Amino acid sequence: MTPTARVPGPVFEPITGRPLAQIAWTPTHEVDDLVERARVAQTDWARMPGPERAARLHRVANLLEVEAEDLAKLETRNTGKPPVDTVREAHRAAGSFRYYAGWVDRAVGETIDPGAGVLSLVDRRPRGTVLGIVPWNVPLFFAAKKFAPALAFGNACIVKPAPETPLTALRLLELMQQAGLPDGVAQVAVGDGELGAALVEHPGMDLIVFTGSDVTGRRVAAAAGRRGAPTVMELGGKSAQLIFPDADLDAAIEGVLLGAYGATGQMCIAGSRVYVHREVAGAFGQALAARIDSMVVGDPRVDGVHVGPQITRDQQRKSFEMIGRAKAAGARTVAQASLPRDPALAEGFFVPPTLLEAVAPDAEVAQREIFGPVAILDVFDDEPDAVRRANGTPFGLAAGIWTADIGRAHRVARRVRAGTVWINPYRVMSDLVPFGGVGWSGYGRENGEAASATYTKAITTWVASSDVIPAR
Ligand code: NAD
Repeated sequence: MTPTARVPGPVFEPITGRPLAQIAWTPTHEVDDLVERARVAQTDWARMPGPERAARLHRVANLLEVEAEDLAKLETRNTGKPPVDTVREAHRAAGSFRYYAGWVDRAVGETIDPGAGVLSLVDRRPRGTVLGIVPWNVPLFFAAKKFAPALAFGNACIVKPAPETPLTALRLLELMQQAGLPDGVAQVAVGDGELGAALVEHPGMDLIVFTGSDVTGRRVAAAAGRRGAPTVMELGGKSAQLIFPDADLDAAIEGVLLGAYGATGQMCIAGSRVYVHREVAGAFGQALAARIDSMVVGDPRVDGVHVGPQITRDQQRKSFEMIGRAKAAGARTVAQASLPRDPALAEGFFVPPTLLEAVAPDAEVAQREIFGPVAILDVFDDEPDAVRRANGTPFGLAAGIWTADIGRAHRVARRVRAGTVWINPYRVMSDLVPFGGVGWSGYGRENGEAASATYTKAITTWVASSDVIPAR
C-alpha cells in the first residue's frame, strides 16, 4: 500500500459551480488503524444488550429528525438536488435508524431436529466489520442505509462516501457519536477509488456492501473475491417504462417525468427508456414533449424550478457527450428544456432535460446508464415486443408498467428482467421492502428481512441428543 499524504479534497456547489468546502481525505496508510479500531469496538458493541443498542440507534434517529431541515439544506448545497428530495432523504435516513433499531433482537436463529439423535442450533451472528461504499447521488440516506442495519445486527461499520459529496455523512458521524455509539464502531473514511480499493482489499473487512456503477462494482467484487470476502452489489440500471394503450396516460406522464428526470436523472432506478404502444404513441409523445420543453432548469431552491444541476462537473460533461454521440449516430431530439439564463448560474453543472427518438436498440444511449436527465422514446406493438424491448439491455434493476389491465400487468411484470417492478407508480421505495438488481445491476438484497441475512452469518452447532451417536 502506497502511503498518501492527508490532502484536502475540494467539494463543490453544483448550482453555482463554486467551491463549497475543503475536506481532508483519509490517507490509505491509515486504513490499518481504522479497521483495527472497528474490530476492537465491534466485540463490545455486539455484546451490548440488544435494548441498549436499539436505544442508541433510536437516539441517532431522533438527532437526525431534529436536524433534518439543516441536513437537507447542506445536502442541497452539495448536490444541487431539490429540497423536496433532500428533506425526504433526511427523514428517510432517520427512518432507517428507527426501523433497524427494531431489528436488534430479531436476528434470531433456529433449532432444527433432523431426527437422528442429534439437534442442530443455527445462530445468526454479526459478520464483524462491514464496509459500506456509497456513490454521490444520495449521500446521507445511503450512508444511513449502510450504517443502520450493520450496527443493528452487531457489526462495526466503516462508510466511504463519494469524495464529491462527503459532507452529510461526516455530520451523520458526529450525530452517531453524540448518540453514544462507542468510539470506532462507526467511522467515515473520505477519499476516492484508491482509498476504496485499499479498504476493500483489507483482510479485516468481513462484508462489503457496495452501491455504485456496474464498472466499479465489478472491480470491487473481483478484489473482494480474491480474498474470499462476501459482497453485496447495488449497481446501476437502464430501466424501461412500458406504457400500454389502456393506461391512465396522465399518470404515466407524471411517472415518466419523475422516473427519468427526477433528481436530474441521477437515480440508479432512472426509467430512462420509455416504450409506448403504437396506438397511443403520438398523443403520449406530444404530451410528454410539451412537459419536457416547458421544464424550468435552475436553482432548485427557487419556486417554480423543476430540475436542478448535475452533482458533478464530470457527470455534466458525460451527459452532454452522450447526447452528442447519440445525435451523431442519428438520434432526433423530441424535446429539450432550456438552460438557465441567470448569469449567477452560468458555471453551474446544468444539463437540459432531453428526450431522444430514432435511437437504435444497440446504441450507446439505449444500452449504457447516462445518470443525467436524458431519456429515449420508442414504440412497441404488443406485449411480447414490449417485454423484448424492456429486456434489451444486460441491466436488470427496475421497470415500470403502466396499464389498467390487471392480468396484463402481472403477466408483463413476471416477464421483465428486473429486481423491482412497479405497476402504475414509479420510484416508490421503503426500508421494509427488499431492493436489489439482477444481471449487471448486481446481486444481494438490502432492506427488510433480507438485511438480516445480509448483515449476519449463520453458524450451525450440532449437539448429540441421544446416547446413540449416528455415524453420518
Ligand atoms: P462509482 O462506481 O464511480 O463510485 C461509487 C463509489 O465507489 C464511490 O464512493 C467511489 O469513490 C468508490 N470507488 C471508486 N473506485 C473504487 C475502487 N476501485 N474500489 C473501491 N471503491 C471505489 O459510482 P458514482 O459515479 O459515484 O455513482 C453513480 C453510480 O451509482 C451509477 O451507476 C448508479 O446507478 C449507481 N447507483 C446504484 C444504486 C443501487 O442501489 N443500485 C443506487 C444509487 C446509485
